[in-house]
Amino acid sequence: MHRILKRQIEKTLGKDKDSPELQQLLQLVSDTYDHFDEDRRLLDRSLSLSSAEFLEKSRNLIEAKERIEEIVHERTQELRKTQARLIASIESLSLGFLILDEKGTVFLGNRMFDEILGIQSSDNISQIDQQLGDKLKLKPMFDESISSHQPLNSRNMVFGKQALSVYVTPIALHMSKIIGAVVIIEDSTKERQIDKAKTEFVSLASHQLRTPLTIVKWHTEAMRNKIKDKPYEAIIKKNLDQINDGTKRMIALVQALLNASRIELGKIAIVPELLNLPEFAHGIVEELRLEIQEKNIQISEVFQPNLPKINADPNLLAIVIQNLMTNAIKYTPPKGRITITVEKIDTENLELIITDTGYGIPREDQAKIFTKLFRADNVKLLKLGGTGLGLYITKSIIETAGGKVSFTSPVDPASKETPGSTFHATIPLNWAPRKDGSSLSSEDNDLLYT
Ligand code: ADP
Repeated sequence: MHRILKRQIEKTLGKDKDSPELQQLLQLVSDTYDHFDEDRRLLDRSLSLSSAEFLEKSRNLIEAKERIEEIVHERTQELRKTQARLIASIESLSLGFLILDEKGTVFLGNRMFDEILGIQSSDNISQIDQQLGDKLKLKPMFDESISSHQPLNSRNMVFGKQALSVYVTPIALHMSKIIGAVVIIEDSTKERQIDKAKTEFVSLASHQLRTPLTIVKWHTEAMRNKIKDKPYEAIIKKNLDQINDGTKRMIALVQALLNASRIELGKIAIVPELLNLPEFAHGIVEELRLEIQEKNIQISEVFQPNLPKINADPNLLAIVIQNLMTNAIKYTPPKGRITITVEKIDTENLELIITDTGYGIPREDQAKIFTKLFRADNVKLLKLGGTGLGLYITKSIIETAGGKVSFTSPVDPASKETPGSTFHATIPLNWAPRKDGSSLSSEDNDLLYT
């Protein structure tokens, strides 16, 4: 029995301490007390054990926390360095650079942006537009780019005395979520001036070259006519013919250069008049009849009946049809076929289609065919002569009139036949007049004293 407890109970109860009931009760209480003691010891042990474990774990936690803090510190330093490098790079750009969030608030920009535009740095794109008056309108471009998810650019916009190119590119976070846009401004004034000076030089040089060349041509023709009935002059006649051919080719080249430079300087005058396109095209086919017959080429004219008249510039239209027809004749071997079709494709446009059975355009050259001075390798080898300017001029004229040019040339290396090409020119029924330039010409004689 628990001794201390027994003594306490006996002292409290005094008499009757030996009665069996009391002894039993004492025994019960004492047992319970012993159990309680035992439990308490167990509890004490387990408590001391778990507190050691707890201490161990919290030590581990503290260490882990310190390691994480170290890593975060290192990463933050790295990020700061990268950010500093990025900002320094953006600052050293010779372009104006701006990053905006999707609402148009400026997130990051460089000094050059404000310098090029001559403005104070602003918090958002509307403020930039306000500072610029109505001179550039960046906000509408920004809005359109954000809503269409497409990059936009405007090249060589006139901004006071400067020429500026503006590029707006949306920033997509993932899938289609747009979180802002980058705006880049380039001051292209110098490049524009150099480009313009180059074009002006070509224009001037071609203009100057044209007159003496035409005089040479005139006089050789005149001499050729004078000696035409005198047989002893056969050799001279041959020489004169060769001079004449060479001069004609040079005049054509100079004329093409002049036309191309006038186009580049934005100096083409459009003076529209009412024309019947099938009749007009037929007239040009007739002018080329000699070349067609020389190569024994079969020609078909497929004109949709009752087509409306078009309001177009006859000079420019003639250059387009002549270029496309001359190419079809030149790049088709003898005994080939050419079909010229005119049809209505919608309420505002007619389509001119010229199909040939010629050498075709190699796939690797197709993307460059409308670029200035480009000639495909397959025809360069044939020594057919050409300037590489005809299609460039054709495309510029059609696009100035509001139309489009395209072509197809099926490439089948296995086929023994020449693949042929088909050129399509969409010709608007109504060309907008523009009278502030010089008219282009495919003729040389009438230009002698212009
Ligand atoms: P070019 O004076 O060389 O004919 P163009 O600008 O008219 O200049 O044409 C550019 C090039 O496009 C030609 O050199 C030729 O390689 C190709 N080309 C144009 N039309 C045709 C055609 N109908 N068939 C095959 N190649 C063509």
